[in-house]
Amino acid sequence: MPNTLLALNWKMNKTPSEARSWAEELKEKYAPAEGVELAVMAPALDLSTLAANLPTGVAFGGQDVSAHESGAYTGEISAAMLKDIGAGYVVVGHSERRDYHGETDATVAAKAKQAQANGLVPIVCVGEKLDVREKGEQVPFTLGQLEGSLAGVGPEVVIAYEPVWAIGTGKTATADDAEELAAAIREALTERYGADAENIRVLYGGSVKPDNIAEICGKPNVNGALVGGASLKVPDVLGMNDAL
Ligand code: 13P
Repeated sequence: MPNTLLALNWKMNKTPSEARSWAEELKEKYAPAEGVELAVMAPALDLSTLAANLPTGVAFGGQDVSAHESGAYTGEISAAMLKDIGAGYVVVGHSERRDYHGETDATVAAKAKQAQANGLVPIVCVGEKLDVREKGEQVPFTLGQLEGSLAGVGPEVVIAYEPVWAIGTGKTATADDAEELAAAIREALTERYGADAENIRVLYGGSVKPDNIAEICGKPNVNGALVGGASLKVPDVLGMNDAL
C-alpha cells in the first residue's frame, strides 16, 4: 500500500501573502510523519508562493483544471501550467464544482485525463447528497458517479469519497460509513484496473479534524483524508499529521 495521503483543500481561501505566512509557519513546525504524505491544494494564484516556501517533501496542487490542453478558454488554467509550476496533484469533480459550475461526470473524466496526460495525479471526488443517503442509495449512487468520472482515466489517480451532507457542516460520516463506501469504491477500482487498484488511495472528506482523523483513516480501505476547514490553520494540520 502507498503512503497515507493527507490532502488539504483550502477552497477559495488565502491570498498569496496569507499563503506565504501559512507555509512559513508550517516550515517552522512541521515534522513529516512516517508513512504520511502531505499535499496542499490551493487557489492557483497561491501556487508559486507555495512552490517557493513549503517545507521539502510537502506536495501541492490545484483545485480544478481545464479539460482542454491550451487555447481560447478565457479564465481557465491548464494542466501543463500546473505541472510547470511544480504541482503534483489536482482536485477534479469536487461537489462544489459539480453543484455551482455544472460539472458532469463526463467533464470530470475529461479533466482527469488532461491532468494525467500532463503528469499530474487527479484527485477525483465523488459522494452523495443527503436525499440519496436518506434513501439508503449511497453505494450505487457513488459508484455510478465513479464509473462516469473515470471513463478513459488511467490508474494513476486518487479517489476522494466526500458525502456532500458532511462537507463544511460539522456532520462527519462515521468511520464505518466511510469504510462502507471506501470498500465499495476499492472493489469497483479492482474491477476496472485489476492489480493496479492496490496502489490507488481512497480518501475520505467531510468535516475531518484532528480529533476524528485517526479513527476514520484507521479503517482498512481509507488511505487518507481530503480536508477543507481544518486545513486553514497550521496547528490543526500538524494535529492531523501527528494523529495519522
Ligand atoms: P470540510 O473539511 O470543510 O468539511 O470540507 C471537506 C471538503 O470539501 C474537502 O474537499
